[in-house]
Amino acid sequence: MLTHFIGGEPVTAGTAFPVHDPMTGAVIRQVGEADPEVVDRAVRAAREAARDWAALPVAERAGWLRRLAEGIEERFDDLVAAEIADTGKPLDQTRTLDIPRGIANFRAFAEIAAHRPDEAFHLSGVLSYTVRRPLGVVAVIVPWNLPFLLMTWKLAPALVAGNTVVVKPSEHTPGSAAVFAEICAAAGLPPGVVNIIYGHGSAGQLLVEHPWVDAVTFTGSTRTGSAIMRAVADRVKPVSFELGGKNAALVFEDCDLERAVEGCVRSVFTNGGQVCLCTERLYVQRPIFEEFGERLAARAQEVVPQPMISAEHREKVLSYYALARSEGAKVLAGGGTPSFGDQRDSGYFVDPTVVTGLSEWSRFNREEIFGPVCHVTPFDTESEAIDLANNSDYGLAAAIWTGGLDRAHRVAQRLEAGLVWVNTWYLRDLRTPFGGLRLSGIGREGGTQSLDFYSEPTTITIKMEQPDA
Ligand code: NAD
Repeated sequence: MLTHFIGGEPVTAGTAFPVHDPMTGAVIRQVGEADPEVVDRAVRAAREAARDWAALPVAERAGWLRRLAEGIEERFDDLVAAEIADTGKPLDQTRTLDIPRGIANFRAFAEIAAHRPDEAFHLSGVLSYTVRRPLGVVAVIVPWNLPFLLMTWKLAPALVAGNTVVVKPSEHTPGSAAVFAEICAAAGLPPGVVNIIYGHGSAGQLLVEHPWVDAVTFTGSTRTGSAIMRAVADRVKPVSFELGGKNAALVFEDCDLERAVEGCVRSVFTNGGQVCLCTERLYVQRPIFEEFGERLAARAQEVVPQPMISAEHREKVLSYYALARSEGAKVLAGGGTPSFGDQRDSGYFVDPTVVTGLSEWSRFNREEIFGPVCHVTPFDTESEAIDLANNSDYGLAAAIWTGGLDRAHRVAQRLEAGLVWVNTWYLRDLRTPFGGLRLSGIGREGGTQSLDFYSEPTTITIKMEQPDA
């Protein structure tokens, strides 16, 4: 049974639950569910370690981040294997994106923190300056779609800012976090600085409610974000939320059509559409609408299906395929489930799917599906396209495909989203702010914005008396 990692030690506790391989549905491991006692033990371990960790100079904590990055490099193949076992991701993607981004997260935040100046303001005879102190114990709660990438994206800046953490990975994907626990132990990270507990949402709820947890950083669904907000409201704990999306892509007639089709194939179908940044609403200018739709549908049929994370999530995605039909959609590609003639037939696959013909106000076009599926809508004018894209309860990401420089800037600046790409998608500089508007989240992480969330400033003001003449 997979053990929790508390105070630097493996801890076996809790009722076992199974984790399934999404490729085949087979049970691949048993994991202990963190109960109130396990959660309390983990938070206490983090609290005990907090003072000494916070007292280290930032350069030393940055050094620890670099050592953890080296540890990840040493265990690279084990992390790749664990991530693939839990998620069914393709080998190439896991080797080139998921695990390398984990390494990059530790290296980038080591540099950003080590080189960050404090602020100072001078008025005549008055000096004000700020120092930043860590929050204390941070709960890190992450989803299953990019388990290692998203865990390290929050863990690295939280640690370098001087916090200790209790991490709860998704119940579907504990494997890479378990390898990371071994990396922390092997590196000799002081006990209690990183604690990892496993379990379902109820374990996450216990964690965020614990009175000694000072702040919550969460990536996951909007519904869970709201539940966490309610749970921490009485104690007014700071929260950073990266939530759902219903992201638009705008394809203008002046685009490079080949590049736009390939870009949208990536943005719709990467990771089986299970990336918060994936495109689910595509708006295409009328003169190229027919051709674009045909080419996208043809390419969708060539995409190798990736499994959904669970039987339950597969059912959810399929229910949206049925909903599209019942709402009167025309299905351009997919719409069902693939058949492989091997053990994958008991896995959690759905067809890559393209539909059209639904209203902007249909549930299909308003709710996050989180699968390999998009809806294509024609538009006539630039301002109509902007209005369509902005007509959403979410505001995470958008992509624009155009050959016009003026149009690219004009449209990008009017889109109500935290991230806008032009003629590309998913390119990230870790120093830039990341996050979304409305139901897509609260706050921004990335670069110094992460450090701002994981610390509190104190402003110190000194009045200097003038010497007697
Ligand atoms: P989820 O909200 O179901 O679960 C996320 C995590 O929260 C899991 O670890 C889960 O166990 C835990 N959890 C569930 N209920 C809880 C509660 N009441 N209190 C505390 N913790 C609780 O999300 P998911 O299905 O794992 O992930 C998919 C969602 O994540 C999608 O909506 C997707 O858009 C979103 N996501 C957003 C981003 C982003 O950066 N904005 C990135 C990746 C995924």
